[in-house]
Amino acid sequence: MAGPHDGSAAMSEDKADELLSDSGSEDSGDQDGSEEEVGSWITWFCSLKGNEFFCEVGEDYIQDDFNLSGLSSQVPYYDYALDLILDSESLQNEVLTEQAQEFVEEAAEILYGLIHARYILTSRGLSAMMDKFKNCDFGRCPRVFCNGQACLPVGLSDIPRQSTVKLFCPKCEDVYYPRSKYHGNLDGAYFGTTFAHLFQLTYPQHRPPKPAERYVPKVFGFKIHPSAYEQQAAAPKRSTQAAQQQQQQQQQQQQQGESSRQPIGNGAAPSAAGDEPPPVQAQAQQQQQQQRPEGTKAL
Ligand SMILES: [Zn+2]
Repeated sequence: MAGPHDGSAAMSEDKADELLSDSGSEDSGDQDGSEEEVGSWITWFCSLKGNEFFCEVGEDYIQDDFNLSGLSSQVPYYDYALDLILDSESLQNEVLTEQAQEFVEEAAEILYGLIHARYILTSRGLSAMMDKFKNCDFGRCPRVFCNGQACLPVGLSDIPRQSTVKLFCPKCEDVYYPRSKYHGNLDGAYFGTTFAHLFQLTYPQHRPPKPAERYVPKVFGFKIHPSAYEQQAAAPKRSTQAAQQQQQQQQQQQQQGESSRQPIGNGAAPSAAGDEPPPVQAQAQQQQQQQRPEGTKAL
């Protein structure tokens, strides 16, 4: 019983009280009289766009202080947030400033997320997530050879605000970014690092076989031999040499062509010389002269 109502919870309560005291000047006439209760906060929260990955945590689970131990120090306005999640009447009777309301709602989302991470490790939570898994609520693996395998949400850290939620594919056992940007903003800690794998251990019958097919890269229909990449890495030297030789040959041909067309004059030269600027040509000619004796030796 001692857990959530001490330490930093008291601090957050003080802060909330400050914000609450501001509300005195506000018109207290606009209470929620017009808004009728339509389901619980939990049902409403889980139905929001982008919250499809969350299952509904049982209220009795949240009402048990033991299940929430340690969370009061992680969430600001803890008591107000908890009251909001549980639709507690004590909160409904209070009039919060707009800013305080915003803070409490934000805190409630964090608190619900952290409770959710714990709940989905219980048998009831796992069962609730199984229904969502069967319904493909978490999306499918984008990998072609996983044939649309249903995924599970996974966190890369159990600490809040470290990373967003990812999708774990039980078939290829890899993780992916969720497709929806709404899901891409969810904190991974609300699902945790354990859930997806405990889920598979709990329901081994739903563990898919490893993918039989693997993508094979091909060039003109031929598989690429691993050594091809090594050869390619060594190739640039050779290819530049080959290119130089080719250039020299072209220049030789051009020179021959020019000499035969000399009567036409310089005006015809650009078409034969191509894109080569004169200085490079001169350099190449020098190289040509230097390399020629070696070439003849090699032959
Ligand atoms: Zn996959």
